[in-house]
Amino acid sequence: MYCGRFAPSPTGPLHFGSLVAATASYLDARAQRGQWLLRMEDTDHTRCRPHYADEILSTLSAFGFVWDEPVIVQSERSALYDAAIAQLGPRVYHCTCSRREIATLAAQNESRYPGICRNGCDPAKPVRALRLAVEDPAISDDFILFSTTGKIYSYQLAVVVDDEAQGITHVVRGADLLSSTPRQQYLQRLLGYRTLQYLHLPLATGPDGTKLSKQNLAPALDTASSTTLLVQALEFLQQQPEENLARQSLANIWAWAIANWRPERLRRYS
Ligand code: GLU
Ligand code: ZN
Repeated sequence: MYCGRFAPSPTGPLHFGSLVAATASYLDARAQRGQWLLRMEDTDHTRCRPHYADEILSTLSAFGFVWDEPVIVQSERSALYDAAIAQLGPRVYHCTCSRREIATLAAQNESRYPGICRNGCDPAKPVRALRLAVEDPAISDDFILFSTTGKIYSYQLAVVVDDEAQGITHVVRGADLLSSTPRQQYLQRLLGYRTLQYLHLPLATGPDGTKLSKQNLAPALDTASSTTLLVQALEFLQQQPEENLARQSLANIWAWAIANWRPERLRRYS
């Protein structure tokens, strides 16, 4: 059984790029009569705000998205992430490097984190992170599983644990996460999890050509224009919506889009 998901981070309101990702994952699931779940990725408590989570859910409802199970919230799931770290055993090591030390060494080694603390670190220095010793040349660094300084479980770890726990079979998301996919697949193999299918989507850009994001203050989705915006998302996804579709009801637009979903029209990334 197909099971897809949308996993926003409540660091700001949804924007057009979020609508594109949500729409594609929703259509891919519904066209295959699959399930579609929601997950709040709020492990980074320094950037997430509960009111954005509420706003995201009401925006999704206003656009006509329907999810099949209660929303899961990552900030409530620390015990599962701790268990996964424990399962990884001796592959996990303490890192005491500061941001500045890493920046200097990474520049010299052309790698994001050249495994400085892999074989032990200075016991006098505070532990700043738990890292994974990666034995895969396709992944250029020993990525972080947990930031001890900020008490933040990493995106890579939380996504992998929750995709498995929620029974996700298909991930449809923006191409900005392409480099995360091999890291997540590597973790899935180490943890003995199922293998997933991935589809990466072209990124919506703003007038200046940069990716739309909450950081560059992409405008929040206006629910009063839901039909127009949904049809624009379908155009962006190369679905060739019929003329006048935007004048139809939200329910009719969704019915058309599900019946006519053609993921092969999207550009292939991998
Ligand atoms: N939470 C991530 C984001 O907001 C998306 C995670 C995913 O789809 O794997 O960009
Ligand atoms: Zn280190």
